[in-house]
Amino acid sequence: MLEQEPLSRYTTWRLGGPARYLVLPADAEDVVRALEMARDRGLPWLVLGLGSNLLVKDSGFPGVVIRPGKGMDRFEMKGATAIVGAGLPTPILARRTAELGFVGVERFIGIPGTVGGGIYMNAGCHGAEFAEVVTEVTVMDERGKAKQLGRRQISFKYRSSNLGPVVLLEAKLGLGEESPAKLKELQGRLFRWRKAGTPFDQPCAGSTFKNPVGPKSAGMLIDEVGLKGYVLGGIQVSPMHANYFVNLGTGTASDALKLIDHVRKTVLKKTGVELELEVKVIG
Ligand SMILES: Cc1cc2nc3c(=O)[nH]c(=O)nc-3n(C[C@H](O)[C@H](O)[C@H](O)COP(=O)(O)OP(=O)(O)OC[C@H]3O[C@@H](n4cnc5c(N)ncnc54)[C@H](O)[C@@H]3O)c2cc1C
Repeated sequence: MLEQEPLSRYTTWRLGGPARYLVLPADAEDVVRALEMARDRGLPWLVLGLGSNLLVKDSGFPGVVIRPGKGMDRFEMKGATAIVGAGLPTPILARRTAELGFVGVERFIGIPGTVGGGIYMNAGCHGAEFAEVVTEVTVMDERGKAKQLGRRQISFKYRSSNLGPVVLLEAKLGLGEESPAKLKELQGRLFRWRKAGTPFDQPCAGSTFKNPVGPKSAGMLIDEVGLKGYVLGGIQVSPMHANYFVNLGTGTASDALKLIDHVRKTVLKKTGVELELEVKVIG
């Protein structure tokens, strides 16, 4: 367990103040103990995946951050069902299933989070999302009790689920069969497309806003109101993709929050569309 650990080290935006406690559980028992500690000390708790969809405030998180990773990254195929730990990185899931000739999650190759975060957020891209493949999840509630939920007990929406305050431990994903060569070729194409269209090598948290209902994406609207490339403090609306806000190296969470506010207000004023945050603000 780490104390006063800067969360900027654990988020892809490289932003955020310290966690009072950071726990790196290796198994479900460690998660039980972390939750117990939070309960005993009356502290809030939070699950962190790879921090690729989070904006942690500069003041940090005044409680227990639980980050499933090594030890909780099981990957096993039983027939066409993948049994996966919440800490498994999604790109590894995409690559390994494709290599073994299973189709269903191959398009998630460029989503830089964990399977736990992906299911919790119902992440997706290129017309696919986790909701389509999840058949069962194992979750732990705040009292440390684990239970299985079947697909019909979970409701997924665009970039959200109704899982609530739980720690997702494991999931079963129902996949199909496909030729590994075909899947590899598709993944190569998608990867090149991402590299060309998004600021892949700069710290950011992917799409800042959800795409609104309507013909125009959030990125198109931000571009349309003239904010592509706009800089506030050390955070910039990416000149490559206007819905990605990149940390130029000196950015703070406060800069990011001010930029989000400025973009949201400008888009609303000029287009009438109210953008909703996809990124989750912590702290
Ligand atoms: C360059 C880039 C590209 C991206 N592209 C896409 C994309 O194409 N499509 C897409 O959907 N997203 C995309 N994202 C956003 C992000 O990668 C996804 O939302 C991802 O699934 C988040 O996973 P994570 O492990 O990083 O979760 P985090 O960001 O750490 O957490 C996200 C949420 O999930 C919760 N959570 C995480 N793990 C668990 C768990 N085990 N149990 C319970 N709750 C948990 C957290 O508490 C938080 O509420 C992108 C991000 C970046 C930086």
